Amino acid sequence: MPRPKKKRKVNCPPKMLGFKPFGIRFCDTEHIVMQYEEYEAVKLVVYDSFSQGIAAEKMEVSRPTLTRIYNSALKKIAQAFVEGKSILIKGGNFEFEKDWYKCNNCFRLIGDITNSKVCGDCSSDETTELLNLKE
Ligand SMILES: [Zn+2]
Repeated sequence: MPRPKKKRKVNCPPKMLGFKPFGIRFCDTEHIVMQYEEYEAVKLVVYDSFSQGIAAEKMEVSRPTLTRIYNSALKKIAQAFVEGKSILIKGGNFEFEKDWYKCNNCFRLIGDITNSKVCGDCSSDETTELLNLKE
């Protein structure tokens, strides 16, 4: 029986849903999908300057798995960079430490919701305007 794939830990979602190249006519079909765990691997190793070993521990994966995720992410970034494609960050086999929401109105990231699903910045009280990033 195949072992169920363990979910990778992602501490905090990115501020944006993706990137668009400048000076390229935007086309919906020309994007590259980057998974949340790939974003997290690049953030931990390049931005936060953790060793791949430490990053692997933080994401609760083995060192070889971290390296594979990291290399895949770099390849996608390079591909987008060279080919002028946009990057869409979504999906993957991951879980956040806690629930994260994004306000569809002001795009604020909200990670401290208790029982009311209200954006503190724009006071939008429509629950439909908060997007649960886990879904
Ligand atoms: Zn808002």
